[in-house]
Amino acid sequence: MKFSFCPHCGSKLFSKDFGDDKNIPFCANCEMPFFPRSGLCVIVIPVNQNNMIALTRQSYGDISKYVLTAGFIEEGETAENACKRELFEELGLKTVNLTYLASYYYEKSDNLMLGFTAIVKDGDFNFSNEVRDACWVDLNEARKLLKNTTVGRELLNEYINFLKTHNNYC
Ligand SMILES: [Zn+2]
Repeated sequence: MKFSFCPHCGSKLFSKDFGDDKNIPFCANCEMPFFPRSGLCVIVIPVNQNNMIALTRQSYGDISKYVLTAGFIEEGETAENACKRELFEELGLKTVNLTYLASYYYEKSDNLMLGFTAIVKDGDFNFSNEVRDACWVDLNEARKLLKNTTVGRELLNEYINFLKTHNNYC
């Protein structure tokens, strides 16, 4: 997103150079530059101690489609905390360990999605209203169910590469 008006005071912004960064929208009133930015989200592959992956079906949109857990990073929150919060809010899962895998730019919604895999504690699901249901599947099943998703499919491939390089591939 590129700003035209100041999000604080509403003044029209004008272009200013900041070192190598040319034509950055600047508010003369607040004396503040507004560098272009995208929405920041996390997307997580939740894996339990038996190497099973939790896939979710949401309560809205395409309710038949299985997806990974994802959500926006809140103001002042780290990406890691957003992953833990989303896993707990949406599925009731407690995170043991997080590994960052890759990031994806999703043009449709102008979001930068930070992709992680999370080792989660075994336990029963506890869904939020956003979630219709979820299931534990193995890697092959997850591959099939995520094949029509964009970021989910790519993140799963990244996870498979990660497992191969760590000699955990089964
Ligand atoms: Zn301003």
